[in-house]
Amino acid sequence: MLLRERWEQVEEVILSDRAAHSVDSKGRRQAEAPCDLRTCYQRDRDRILHSKAFRRLKHKTHVFIAPEGDHYRTRLTHTLEVAQIARTMARGLRLNEDLVEAIALGHDLGHTPFGHSGEAVLDQLHPDGFDHAKHSLRVVDLLESKPGREGLNLTWEVRDGILHHSKEQKDNPAHTLEGQIIKFADRIAYLNHDIDDSVRAGVLTPEDIPKHVVDTLGASHSERITTLVRSVIESSGEGEYIAMDPVVYDAMIALREFMFERVYYNPAVKSEDGKVGRLIVDLFTYFKKHLDAIPEEHLAFAERHNVSDDDIVTDYIAGMTDRFAINIWKQLFVPKDWHSL
Ligand code: MG
Repeated sequence: MLLRERWEQVEEVILSDRAAHSVDSKGRRQAEAPCDLRTCYQRDRDRILHSKAFRRLKHKTHVFIAPEGDHYRTRLTHTLEVAQIARTMARGLRLNEDLVEAIALGHDLGHTPFGHSGEAVLDQLHPDGFDHAKHSLRVVDLLESKPGREGLNLTWEVRDGILHHSKEQKDNPAHTLEGQIIKFADRIAYLNHDIDDSVRAGVLTPEDIPKHVVDTLGASHSERITTLVRSVIESSGEGEYIAMDPVVYDAMIALREFMFERVYYNPAVKSEDGKVGRLIVDLFTYFKKHLDAIPEEHLAFAERHNVSDDDIVTDYIAGMTDRFAINIWKQLFVPKDWHSL
């Protein structure tokens, strides 16, 4: 018996009937022979982990732009924290841990440089708008191609989970419980690590967190995460949706409102937003006029798929890390010092 088949049997024994069993996957867009060693979801997780877009997450902002301190979150460490929280919930509910891990690792691949500030600018520049969750799907379906394979060719369930993770899809949850877990895990991860980073940045002190939130969720990072994760596990044992105890949920929403007011909309935190906007507009305008300055692999992809000029430029800019975007802007718009011939 192949190792993959043994894993499929293990899933049959240990997973709940409500879980997405890998043998029941709706499959891939392009048919492929299965792997001998790994289930289809284990294979998807590995494909995401080995992608270039995944490695670029290390230099993309989460909230604080290009912070000097080494302990601030980036989009990569956020992604890893989401994956760990999601795996704990999946185990607790006997859902498919490999599937949640794949979705978690892929959920933010479509994020632009400079976090939501960069996303908001591209949303205005592209005639059809820009949404990072849809772009994450575009990355895995199309942009991460290699000879002989279009995109990463992931399973339907991973693609569905990536697309439905964001708040824009609130009335349209993922079709698997594993996909629904990611939305909770994403929020639990970012609210808590953003408190930690905001304290580090001097934007908050732990005493600023509203008392009723602390009373319900706990005073420390680990207490809050434990309360939230436990609540999901204890409230989602039955039924077709992932849920949370209403009292805990309300405290989480109150914490979210507090974070928007004190951190995400804080003028000090957003002090670079104007510069981010100008930088992205400059790059967009320049590359729209100079498509030939865009790397060959993007242009070859565009030709294969007959995509619009706006798409070519958006795909290129959205894929940039913060530091790549800053460096290329400097090269294009800042005069260089003269060096002797
Ligand atoms: Mg996220």
